[in-house]
Amino acid sequence: MNWQTDYKEALRSNEDLAKFFEVEFPKTHYPIFIPKTFAEKIKNHGIGSPLWKQFLPHKDEDQNLSGRYDPIGDKTHSKGNQLIHRYQNRVLFTPTTVCPVLCRYCFRKNELAEKDEVFNQNFAEAKKYLKANPTINEVIFTGGDPLILSNEKLASFIQDFAEIESIKYIRFHSRTPVILPGRIDDGFLAVMTSASEIFMRSMLMIHINHGDELDAEVVEAIKLLTDAGIEVFSQTVLLKGVNDQTEILLELFTRLAEIKVKPYYLHHPDEALGAMHFHMSLEAGRRIVQPLHDLLPGWALPQYVIDIPGGEGKVPALNPESFTFSGTLINRHGKEIKL
Ligand SMILES: *Cc1c(COP(=O)(O)O)cnc(C)c1O
Ligand code: SF4
Repeated sequence: MNWQTDYKEALRSNEDLAKFFEVEFPKTHYPIFIPKTFAEKIKNHGIGSPLWKQFLPHKDEDQNLSGRYDPIGDKTHSKGNQLIHRYQNRVLFTPTTVCPVLCRYCFRKNELAEKDEVFNQNFAEAKKYLKANPTINEVIFTGGDPLILSNEKLASFIQDFAEIESIKYIRFHSRTPVILPGRIDDGFLAVMTSASEIFMRSMLMIHINHGDELDAEVVEAIKLLTDAGIEVFSQTVLLKGVNDQTEILLELFTRLAEIKVKPYYLHHPDEALGAMHFHMSLEAGRRIVQPLHDLLPGWALPQYVIDIPGGEGKVPALNPESFTFSGTLINRHGKEIKL
């Protein structure tokens, strides 16, 4: 099945899920979306597996109301033009709100479900903003998931950014290689190759959380990228009940490193409304991650980071002095933020 058909025929409702998995799921107000080929993999891993927990609805999504609508403060830094500008030199660009799957732990799940104005489309304004702000040298395609767009659309964005002299680096953040590995087609390889000719660096960051996601088909898709000379990195979210064990992370990062993917970030879970059942304390996270320093070389070890709630940005999450969390984090400007 080609990836477009797979996408079109995705499971989209509780009724679809019940029929496919032969299990009843709680109804929540968050939308459902799982392509059938990927649903088949979830089914094979079974109830309560790491795949199951990441993608199938849980009653706590509507019952645990302790999180934040916009945990990392996208809104504070949104420019109303598809750009989120939090750091001086780089911006997030959100060309779409569509994803290849809906992850139940997603930190943008509220904004995506509500079609928030953060995602308003205004590309002409985005280009103007980039031209007017030449300290920005990197554009990061995020979403939604940029790989849902056609190769033609991606190529046209790249052409547009190529006209802005200050842009040196292009980056794509995507979960698609894991969910719809067929998306890594010749056309996409050509888009990435041409981007690496235009810009000083062009990179693909794959969002992957567990070794179970790295099956033969996904490894094959990643190999197409690395064989084509494309720089591939990974991002992982630490999730309670999914990958909150040192051995699970060790296996994931080892296997990624073996296939020439550089583990880039391990994100402490955000305090997202509707996803608090995946959350854990910083102390719990530190106890899981710290031992990895004995088990992996620096080049296979991602940086463990936390996004300070409210838009203060990412900072290192490990504290070499203590597992316990003092309650204060220091942001990138040296300001102490009390949580
Ligand atoms: C995380 C993030 C980035 C990317 O940061 P890196 O540390 O360079 O990976 C850029 N912009 C925003 C708004 C972000 O939240
Ligand atoms: S692919 Fe990314 S943006 Fe989309 S639901 Fe999953 S975590 Fe959220």
